Amino acid sequence: MSSMRRHAPPRRLAILGATGSVGVSTLDVVARHPGRFEVVALTAHAQVERLLAQCRRFIPRYAVLGEAREARSLEQQLRADGLATRVLAGPEALVQVATLPDVDTVMAAIVGAAGLPATLAAAQAGKRVLLANKEALVMAGQLFREALRSGGAQLLPIDSEHNAVLQSLPAGFDGDLESAGVRRILLTASGGPFLRAPPESLTLVTPEQACAHPNWVMGRKISVDSATMMNKGLEVIEACFLFSARPAQIEVVVHPQSVVHSMVEYVDGSVLAQLGNPDMRTPIAHALGFPERIESGVRPLNFFEIGTLNFEAPDLARFPCLRLAYAALAAGESGAVTLNAANEVAVDRFLRRELTFDLIPSVIEEVLSRAPVSALHDLAHVLEVDREARALARQCLSGAGAARVRQLHG
Ligand code: NAD
Ligand code: MG
Repeated sequence: MSSMRRHAPPRRLAILGATGSVGVSTLDVVARHPGRFEVVALTAHAQVERLLAQCRRFIPRYAVLGEAREARSLEQQLRADGLATRVLAGPEALVQVATLPDVDTVMAAIVGAAGLPATLAAAQAGKRVLLANKEALVMAGQLFREALRSGGAQLLPIDSEHNAVLQSLPAGFDGDLESAGVRRILLTASGGPFLRAPPESLTLVTPEQACAHPNWVMGRKISVDSATMMNKGLEVIEACFLFSARPAQIEVVVHPQSVVHSMVEYVDGSVLAQLGNPDMRTPIAHALGFPERIESGVRPLNFFEIGTLNFEAPDLARFPCLRLAYAALAAGESGAVTLNAANEVAVDRFLRRELTFDLIPSVIEEVLSRAPVSALHDLAHVLEVDREARALARQCLSGAGAARVRQLHG
């Protein structure tokens, strides 16, 4: 196999969000396969030192930072090292590197709505998109589908659950669950750090506690989403778009060990699952090498160490965010954009210690009840709905709005 590899041209990568948890894991897998991948572009928001170190190691042609001043300083440091990396700045530069003619594969690993324009542009440009940035798909699933239909792009999920579903579906699955004989998609959920916490204790939860996930080490936003189970809500929406599923075809199964990453149930009663240690390098390696299997550095699963696997139904009273995600999905297209925007604002406030953990769902519920529902035509429209929902959320969090949110909660 290695002799075959030597003749295949390398995959040319742009890694959006290279300095984050998924970005770092991606570069870890890439580094295990010299010659198989060429890193063309790396992007980060504000982590200059980390991006500098990554540029020194992987020597990309382009690097992108959020601010022009920092971009200039990074470029100067790279020049001093004799490196010719061009450093660009701002959201347009993200789109630019995601659509470069000499990039064929884009790892979309920016967190939140900020990643949408570049990720969608990559799909529209016909790239192979490795999608970790689930918020982009939640906001603009329909636009991604259109891009895939017209542009020859390919979308490979990095989210461990969706990657597990892809692995458990027939090879070459064409988006028709019925003809594939699929009855249900079973998305597993760890339940996060507060699966058994008394509900009244959630008022006092700190960002540190919320970010201490029992099984996964991840960025702060997705860690809080896992603690509220909004992460699973976003993943249900993500699964609807990725696999052309109706919400009723998706069931959430709480599985605290995070060993079964998700399952597909067929009409004959067979259930296929993908298992592995909870380490993102497995789905990342799966998508990077697809359809070939490549080494990821992940420790083999030891069943004798694990011993027991547990499963239970999610508690929607304890985790209102999951219920709200189903409601947003039922509300129609812009519902998911509103849900995502309100959640991003609420989580950000919680992380700044300006909102208690237990009020995160109340803010989202209030915004969902006040935002109008509309069809989504294009990216500009999606971004407009996103802006309006953020404004509503900020309103809910100030003065009289905050009192109402507390009342809604009580
Ligand atoms: P992270 O916070 O660790 O990293 C985020 C990356 O995005 C960083 O490189 C940061 O510089 C960049 N970024 C942040 N804000 C930006 C902005 N406004 N503009 C441009 N770049 C910006 O996050 P993460 O945990 O790596 O998650 C990334 C995405 O992958 C999220 O959508 C998350 O839901 C998804 N995901 C992550 C995991 C995981 O294990 N971490 C698992 C499944 C899915
Ligand atoms: Mg996941």
